[in-house]
Amino acid sequence: MSMFARGDRKGSSIRAAACAAFLALCLASAHARAGAGEITETLNVVWEAFWQQQGYVQPVSKWRDPIRVSFSGASFERHKPFALEQLRNVARAAGLELTEADPAGPPANLEVEFVPDDLTRVGFYFACRTLRTPAAGVIRRVKITAEERSLRGCLLHEAMHAIGIAGHPRGASILSYYRGSSGLTPTDEFMLKVWYSDELKPGMSALPALAVFARRLVEAAPDAERPQAERAAAQFQYQALAQLESIALGRGEPPRILFQSSTLTPAGLARGRLEAQRALAAAKAEAAGLEKSLNAATPADR
Ligand SMILES: [Zn+2]
Repeated sequence: MSMFARGDRKGSSIRAAACAAFLALCLASAHARAGAGEITETLNVVWEAFWQQQGYVQPVSKWRDPIRVSFSGASFERHKPFALEQLRNVARAAGLELTEADPAGPPANLEVEFVPDDLTRVGFYFACRTLRTPAAGVIRRVKITAEERSLRGCLLHEAMHAIGIAGHPRGASILSYYRGSSGLTPTDEFMLKVWYSDELKPGMSALPALAVFARRLVEAAPDAERPQAERAAAQFQYQALAQLESIALGRGEPPRILFQSSTLTPAGLARGRLEAQRALAAAKAEAAGLEKSLNAATPADR
């Protein structure tokens, strides 16, 4: 331990001397490294958000219609303003229209039901749940059920599920079980914005969807950091592909965070293998389609 510390100090002093000579260069490279690190971190949150907590990866699920909310259950009039505000925060970041359902108009497609506290339950359990129908593709209906004692802490999180994002990433997101903030993080805002861009189609498989996020992050990097950003994004996607390939072969495992959350099930993992095979087939079909359109568009350039 102490040996490493000494070695590190020596390394630092050499770096410091070098930096004194080429200060601007060193600052630029440190910054670029941070940029690439941030890209990896953000992509990790995005990638983990594609995983159902039981252990399988899911295609994109999103709304096409404006969302009409109704509230029911225990003291719903009292809880409504808070719940509506949380739902609106998420809808606003996604650029989606969300209103309270008009009793005289079309029926609600997002139902929120408040239930009294279940005092027989203690410790870690799911006091709030969200059920999306269907689970992937264009969302038609959603029901959020929230226990009264938990709703202040869970509604923003459930609103993210309601909008279509299924997973529980480890990193900086309101979807994390280990979240340190009670608001949407910059990563959440980014995820919602890209999720509801036209590039992300309902039913789109996780890998091509991940590629859309990666491209956005690379495009946002300053010119000087672009090569590092591209490398970090490509490396992340390569690892995601390798992970799915090994799961498809019955060897690999979903992201570590799913194990830490103790929510994996044997059925979920078995489904994980099928979903990984499906995701790979979809990614290959997408790549083949792209190849075809490139051939058609630029026959002479290749
Ligand atoms: Zn959740």
